[in-house]
Amino acid sequence: MHEVAVVGGGFIGSFTSWLLARKGIQVTLFEEHDKFGYPPHCTGLISISGLQRIGLYDLFRKEGIILNPGISSALFVTYRGKIFPVNLDEPIAVVLDREASERLIAEKAIDGGVQAHISTIVREISVNGDLIAIKRNSGKFRKRFSVIVDAEGAGRKLIRYLPGVDLRGLLPAFQMDVRARDRSGLLNSSTVLLYFNVPDFFSWIVPLDESCEIWRVGSASMSYSGLLRNIASSLARKFLKDIREIRRFGGLVVSNGPLKRFVWGKIVAVGDAAGQVKPTTGGGVIFGSLSAIVLSKIIESYLNKGTPLKTYQVAWKKFFGSNFQAMYLIRKTYNALTHVGIDTLARFIPSNILNNFKTDFDFQLEGVLSRLR
Ligand SMILES: Cc1cc2nc3c(=O)[nH]c(=O)nc-3n(C[C@H](O)[C@H](O)[C@H](O)COP(=O)(O)OP(=O)(O)OC[C@H]3O[C@@H](n4cnc5c(N)ncnc54)[C@H](O)[C@@H]3O)c2cc1C
Repeated sequence: MHEVAVVGGGFIGSFTSWLLARKGIQVTLFEEHDKFGYPPHCTGLISISGLQRIGLYDLFRKEGIILNPGISSALFVTYRGKIFPVNLDEPIAVVLDREASERLIAEKAIDGGVQAHISTIVREISVNGDLIAIKRNSGKFRKRFSVIVDAEGAGRKLIRYLPGVDLRGLLPAFQMDVRARDRSGLLNSSTVLLYFNVPDFFSWIVPLDESCEIWRVGSASMSYSGLLRNIASSLARKFLKDIREIRRFGGLVVSNGPLKRFVWGKIVAVGDAAGQVKPTTGGGVIFGSLSAIVLSKIIESYLNKGTPLKTYQVAWKKFFGSNFQAMYLIRKTYNALTHVGIDTLARFIPSNILNNFKTDFDFQLEGVLSRLR
C-alpha cells in the first residue's frame, strides 16, 4: 500500500492528513512538539465564508472553539492616525481558538486512521521519498514514502536548499494577549483595528471574545523587528487602559507570496511552507486549507492513476488564479509606498470611502475594484 508522509502537525499538515485519510490513503504525520496546536502563533481571525468553504464552520461551532463569533467591522488607522472605518451589516469573521482548532483537526485525522508521531523531528527529506526523523527517547529512523508532504510552516528548514524556495519576506511577529478596557471609545467586541504604523506590514488589536475584556495585540515587520514588543505595547496603551498582560508569543508572517515551485520529485509543499497565504494579510488558515484540498485530490490521482505530482502546481494556479496575483500586487504596492507614503496619500482620500464596503474576506479583488470604479 502507498504511504504518504506529512511533515508538520500544524493546522494545514493535520488537515491535509485528515483529507488524505478520508480518501483511504495511509498517512504518517510527524510533529516535532509533544502536542498538537503548540506553540501558538496565529491571531485566529478567520472568515466565516472561508471556514464554510473548507467545511469546518459547523464543526468548530459545535465544538465551542470559536472565541468570538461576530467580527463585523474594522478600523484602518494610518500612521498619523487618520481612521477609515468599515461597518458591515453582519459578521464576516470569527476569532478561533487556534490551539484548540489544531488539536481537534489532529484528533480527527488520528480517528480517521492517520498514524501520528509526536515529539518527532524530521531532519531530512529527499526527492526520492526518503525521510529521516528522530523520535525523542527512541532515536533515529529512515523510511521511504510514496509522497512527502512538507507542511513544516514558514521556517522552510527542510526545503530551503531546493530550487525555487525563497526565504525572503518572512516577517517576524510579536503578539500579546492582554486583559484591558477600551480607552479610545472606538473598540468593541465586533471591531478589529489595523494600524499601519510599520513600513512593511501593520499592527493589530483583535477582541478575543465578546466580553471586551481580553484583546490580542500584535505587530509584524522586518524593518522594525527589534522593536515589535515596544510597538505592540505602545499600540495597546494608545487604545486600551488598565492593561494586564496575560501571555506573549511570536511567529513568522509570510509576506512574499507563494513559492515559485511546490513540487520537487516526491516532495510537495503546502500551507505556509509553500507561501500559500492571503497576500494582503498573511492569513494562511483558509488559503492553506484550500490548497490542501487541491493537493489531496492530486495525491489521490497520483497514487491511483499516475497523474504527475506537478499537476498540483497547475491546479493550484487555476484555482487561485488572477485574484491571488492582484492581491499580491496590492501588497507589493503597499510595501513600495511604506506607511509614510500611504499616510500622505490617505490625506486626499475621504474617510468614508469604505462605507458599505462589501468584499469577500478572502478573495478580495472584486471588493477592491468596486471601490475604484
Ligand atoms: C502573528 C501571526 C498572526 C497570524 N494571524 C492569522 C490570522 O488571524 N488568520 C489566518 O488565517 N492566519 C494567520 N496567520 C497565519 C497562520 O498562522 C498560518 O498561515 C497557519 O498557521 C499555517 O499553518 P501551517 O500548518 O502551514 O504551519 P504552522 O502552523 O507553522 O505549522 C507547522 C508545524 O510543523 C511542525 N514542524 C516544523 N518543522 C518540523 C520538522 N522538521 N519535523 C516535525 N515537525 C515540524 C511545527 O512544530 C508546526 O506544528 C498568522 C501568522 C502569524 C505569525
